[in-house]
Order: sequence, then structure tokens, then C-alpha cells
Amino acid sequence: MDTQKLLRSLPKTDELLKRDDLVALEQAFPRSVVVDAVRDSVEAVRAAILAGEDVVFDDDTLAADVVRAAEARMRPSLRPVINATGIIVHTNLGRSRLAEDALRAVVEVAGNYSTLEYDVETGERGSRHSHVERLICDVTGAEAAMAVNNNAAAVLLVVTALASRKEAIVSRGQLVEIGGSFRIPDVMRQSGARMVEVGATNKTHLSDYATAITPKTGLLLKVHSSNFRVVGFTEEVSLADLVALGNERGVPVYEDQGSGVLIDLAPYGLPDEPTVRSSIEAGVDVVSVSGDKLLGGPQAGIIAGKREYIARLKKHPLARALRLDKMTLAALEATLRLYLDPASALEQIPTLRMLTRRPSDVAASARLMVDRIVEATGDAFWVAAMPDVSRAGGGALPLADIPTTIVTVAPRTMSANRLEERLRLGCPTIVARIRDGRVLLDLRTLAPHEEALIVDRLAEIAAGDPA
Ligand SMILES: *Cc1c(COP(=O)(O)O)cnc(C)c1O
Repeated sequence: MDTQKLLRSLPKTDELLKRDDLVALEQAFPRSVVVDAVRDSVEAVRAAILAGEDVVFDDDTLAADVVRAAEARMRPSLRPVINATGIIVHTNLGRSRLAEDALRAVVEVAGNYSTLEYDVETGERGSRHSHVERLICDVTGAEAAMAVNNNAAAVLLVVTALASRKEAIVSRGQLVEIGGSFRIPDVMRQSGARMVEVGATNKTHLSDYATAITPKTGLLLKVHSSNFRVVGFTEEVSLADLVALGNERGVPVYEDQGSGVLIDLAPYGLPDEPTVRSSIEAGVDVVSVSGDKLLGGPQAGIIAGKREYIARLKKHPLARALRLDKMTLAALEATLRLYLDPASALEQIPTLRMLTRRPSDVAASARLMVDRIVEATGDAFWVAAMPDVSRAGGGALPLADIPTTIVTVAPRTMSANRLEERLRLGCPTIVARIRDGRVLLDLRTLAPHEEALIVDRLAEIAAGDPA
């Protein structure tokens, strides 16, 4: 058929909209969405015709396009995904999933009026800091505490409030970049503090700090090298030594501790990481951590330390701009309360549960999943379980190889890349890794119901589901 004839055979928008199936679609979706979907679908076919492509269409195929386009438009952009990567604190996938208690707290607080800034005892205005301060103090041993939007905000607030128009001394080995847009030197500049770098990339001595202190010094800053390690001929000043120097010279010491470990994880085979409590015990004046890395809560920056400094932070004008909203506070409070009993924290906070899950347990799940996949998909895939390593992620514990068992799925009739894409673009969204022509599913980051959803999705793909 020639181009003009094909173009003339395209249905009019109004006609298509009268079809029963599209009238029904308008019951489920806003009319504007359906109308746009009709226009876009017809336009796409018109463009294909004009480009000389071989297009086959009729009103039924167009209506199917419309349904797909409208559904895609109404599908939430921010939605759950299944993380089969084995990276536990996966920053791109939202870092930590919340504990059940935290989820319930968010729903309760968000759907109702709340005690956000209301003191029930007195009937007067209360402080939003009050919901988490006591808990943070209990689990860290600090005198005072507060929480802000994230740890980047915490660093900005602390350095601005304590060292603006003064000097902040930091080791050259700790000028870290955490993700593309957070670099310690840039935050310093933004805060109005003058950064004084001391030492060398691999070695900084206490005397380097001591000789850099002047009457203008406002802060000694220690930054945890979260996402990298300097190995070999290296030396760092311990927090205790820095605190002793700060006390002697009357300069506060602030530690950006990064990932927020509240429980010693070494007994579970993980590397020795300083806990917030260990920094408080070492006498640090202020310490801050992320809420959603190894702590396993919502995005937040937790600041703990000496009363006089926390009071200054709470009063600083930036505190208002960086404050937490009620949903996050609800989730953070519930998560922190779990830490009052470390055993329940390990069991109920998903990040901790996944980090400390025994390798033998992961292996058993993996073997079971292999059987289920084979049962559900016949011989569509080569499926096997094999040892591998999971990662903590989120820039935490970068050198920790966490033993795991993965399920490898190699399709017989399509490429591994194509299978990975089908898992990613289908419903639910499943994110997996690829290696050596196989799709890898790490059981460590999967909840049991997610294992079942993956098996179902593989069965659909094996059965030739076109999506
Ligand atoms: C992750 C991290 C930050 C940034 O924390 P966010 O909560 O992501 O804002 C800052 N400092 C260190 C050392 C970190 O590890």
C-alpha cells in the first residue's frame, strides 16, 4: 500500500475513543491520560509510516497500544523493585528497606495528626527533636542528639555552626568524595569554614594537627574513609588522640563516621567498624552518621555528642532548612527503638538481618530456588546454585566479602542480556547482575516472597510472555 493510503487509513482520535475497550479504560484512568495515549499511539504509527517502515496495524492493535501507553503512564515512577544484586545497602535502589515497625509508624503518623511538635503533658508546643533524642542517647551513650535530613546535611550543619569563618583542620587522607555530589572540600567551602589540610594522603601524625592549630581554629574534623581504603605504608591519628589534643587546646572534635554502625558486627564475621558508642566513649564532641546505611533506617543524618554543641546546632538557622519531616521521624524513632534490644534489631531490621544472615541459610534457600525454577520453567534455562560474594554497599565496608550463594540462570533461547532486560522491564521490576552469559540472583538480598515472585516471572518468560 502506498504511504498516502496508509496515512488515510489511520483512525481518528474521536473514533478510537468510542471503542468499548477504550471507554472502559476511561473508567480506570483519567480521561486526559487515555486521550493522550490515543494521540501518542496514532502518532507513533503515523511517524513509522512516514519513515517508510513496514507497519501493520488495525484498530485492535492500536487500542492495545493505547492500553499499554496509558498503563505505563499511570504506573508509579517511584515504585518497589526486587534487589537480586546482593548489594545490601544499594544506594540507587533506595539503600535500606525499613523494618515492619518503622513501616507501621510511618502509616500511622502520616495518616493522622500527630505529636510532631506538641507536648501532650503540658498541652503546649513541643520539639520535634524530642522523638528521637532520648533514643539516640540511649543507644550511643551520648549526652544529647538530634537528626536532620541526611548525613550530608549533618556535616554541613556541624561545620557551619561550629567553624564558619574559622579554620577546620582535616587530614589529606580523609578528603573523601561520597557519591558524585558530596565532597568534603566542597562542603567546607559551602559552610564558610576555611579548610586546613594536614599530613599526606597516606600518613597524618598527631603533630601535623598540633602545629596547624591557631587561634582561628574552630574544629578538628575526622572523616571516616567509608568507601575506600588506603593500604600499605599508612598512618591515621586515632580519635582518642585527636580528642586529647582538642581538649588540651580547647578545640572541639567532630567525627563524620559515615555508615552508622550501632552494634558491633565483628561477631558476625564482618570487619571491625567503629560504633557510634565507641566514638562517644573516646570523648568526641560531635559525631554524625547516616540513618539509611548500616543503621538500616530511613534517610536521615544522626548527630550525637556533647550538650553544648548539640544545643548550638539545634538553634542554628540551617537546622530548620535541614530538618526531618514527620514520616521520616516516625520511621527513625521506630528503627532506633528496635536497637534498645540488639537481638531484635538484628532480627527485625532488614539491613542487619541480611548482613548477618548465615551463609548456610542463604545456600539452603538458593538450592530450593533452583528446584522451584526448574519445576516452573522446564528446560527453558540452565539453572544452578553456586558460591559468590555479597557486598554491604552504600560505601560501607568496601573490603568485606560476604559469603553468599547465588542462583545462576542461563537462557537457552535468548541472550543473558535479553533475560536481564526482561526481568528489569517486566512486572515486578527485578534487578539482577550478569556475568559470563548468565543472570545472577543473589539470595542474600531477597525476601522469601520475592524469591517466589522471581520464579513466577521466569515462568512467564519461559512460557513466551511477550512483555
Ligand atoms: C555516606 C556518607 C556521607 C553522606 O551521607 P548521606 O546520608 O548519604 O547524606 C557523608 N560522609 C561519609 C563518611 C559517608 O560515608
